[in-house]
Amino acid sequence: MNSQEVRQKFLDFFEKRGHAILPSASLVPENDPSVLFTTAGVQPLVPYILQGSHPQGNRLVSVQKCVRTTDIDDIGDKTHATFFEMLGNWSIGDYFKEDAIKWSYELLTNKEEGFGLDASRLYITVFEGNDDVPGDQESVEFWKKAGVPENRIYYLGDSNFWPKPKKDDTYSGPCGPSTEMFYDLTENGLGDLSHEQFVEADEEQKVVEIWNDVFMEYKKENGKVVGKLPKQNVDTGSGLERLLMVLQRKENIYETDVLQPLMQEAIKISPSTKSARIIADHIRAATFIIADGVVPSNTDRGYVLRRLIRRAVFHTTKKSLSIQDTTALVELVSNTYATQYSDIKEKVEMVTEEIKKESDKFEQTLVKGLKQLEKISGNISGLDAFTLFSSYGFPIEMTVEIAKENGLSVDTEGYQKELMSHQEKSKTASAGKFKGGLGGHSEQELKYHTATHLLNAALKQVLGNHIEQRGSNINSERLRFDFSHSEKMTDEQKKEVESLVNKWINGNLPVSFEEMGVEDAKKSGAVGVFGEKYGEKVKVYSIGNVSKEICGGPHVENTRALGEFKIKKEEASSAGVRRLKAVLF
Ligand code: ATP
Ligand code: MG
Repeated sequence: MNSQEVRQKFLDFFEKRGHAILPSASLVPENDPSVLFTTAGVQPLVPYILQGSHPQGNRLVSVQKCVRTTDIDDIGDKTHATFFEMLGNWSIGDYFKEDAIKWSYELLTNKEEGFGLDASRLYITVFEGNDDVPGDQESVEFWKKAGVPENRIYYLGDSNFWPKPKKDDTYSGPCGPSTEMFYDLTENGLGDLSHEQFVEADEEQKVVEIWNDVFMEYKKENGKVVGKLPKQNVDTGSGLERLLMVLQRKENIYETDVLQPLMQEAIKISPSTKSARIIADHIRAATFIIADGVVPSNTDRGYVLRRLIRRAVFHTTKKSLSIQDTTALVELVSNTYATQYSDIKEKVEMVTEEIKKESDKFEQTLVKGLKQLEKISGNISGLDAFTLFSSYGFPIEMTVEIAKENGLSVDTEGYQKELMSHQEKSKTASAGKFKGGLGGHSEQELKYHTATHLLNAALKQVLGNHIEQRGSNINSERLRFDFSHSEKMTDEQKKEVESLVNKWINGNLPVSFEEMGVEDAKKSGAVGVFGEKYGEKVKVYSIGNVSKEICGGPHVENTRALGEFKIKKEEASSAGVRRLKAVLF
């Protein structure tokens, strides 16, 4: 069964059982500057789960693009990718454990409607319980009812509770036990396993987790379980690559049809299988991330992207990507996903260009950086690692890899400290600048401030949702606005932005604000500046219903005060960031 058939079968199975099919959301979470990427199918659904309803109904199913940067060190093993697709089904206050478990088992093992996997290769884990919550005996009963023998069900600790409890937990929200399905990858089959044998088989990747059902049944406040939820929810997630691996009888995800063509190309330009896996994984992830509107930079999402591209390039034999290689790799990704994500096809050229540009930039500094590294005698200090990053663009994990090859170690904690103190300094500097801009609160500056919000909203409408504010500066003469976008704006686009802003100005829109918690602000759809640390309570400024932003203010009271808006200049500011200057008159 190929990848497209597996996606379709999953969707069909749940559609037939009353679930509405949702399209994949973007990898860049909408209006949520607190998270870098969508990491699970449930993420775009959280606001609906919290409010207890979804416009499409209370049974939902989707195939969601995900990126998990936390798994970056595992890349190259059999089962982890940075980009992967998650197949999931949800119940919002509708069915609960019994149906969820019955359907998971049916879909995995049934030969007609399901994938027809070998039931004797399945192992199940459930939550063993703790001081707050009893063990999940209910799930055990439902698994037995579905057909799983009791000796294939194992009680485990915190890894079977969602969200995984942390030290000094402050989580508030729905939570509950999870049950995970594992599949035996070995040739002859492991058969019955004791608890210890099962745990060991998992560690050795002889069995692989293919699906996880979460049962939201309790409520936590400030890290403590305070009772049961009035309505229970189900959230499940199964990795497409992992399912393909077991269905196509491959021993790792790189041999499945979503990665194998890319691997064949990667192996031509890399010295080892592990390097080829890193190239294939990182270029695939980079392609999807760029297609969703991110460009390489030194902060946040852009920096994750930069690391992925640079690390892939570092693993090539020549430590650079030719335009032929880049084109071939990106086109392979596009062809592999032609049916499911057709937008990639339209963006092949743009993606290729971004990756090639980043590879070239990296090449320029790599030689110098490597020389610098050679000069360091002994283990690499935090400051050395930070200098390699800030002056030569060496991602930390690359420095670690090079050091390892030479039998040296890197003080990664020291590196993190350097990085944080650097960010602290630049944040204070930019906060100071911002205050300077608004310090006087001159009437003209207030107008420019309000106009900046309108401009931000207009750019999103005209250029797309990938637009994010990267900087802003105001004086009584003009506004300046930096935003993430990698191409020059056309004259037509500038005109469109101008006339939108002017239309809103002439619409006499009221400007108002509300104070609320950061989480509520995000839930309300307010845009924030990514990476800013906000206090407990924030102000959310609304302009009519065209703009909603987290912002300290102050602003004018009505847009009619602004006069007429005109763009004076649009230019490149830094890689992937454009700068606009505009005036009101
Ligand atoms: P693991 O312990 O194997 O890292 P997980 O517990 O982090 O998995 P979940 O958060 O439960 O995984 O995600 C649900 C499903 O998504 C998993 O059962 C698995 O099939 C898949 N999955 C999770 N992480 C990855 C990854 N990095 N690459 C591919 N598939 C993944
Ligand atoms: Mg994981």
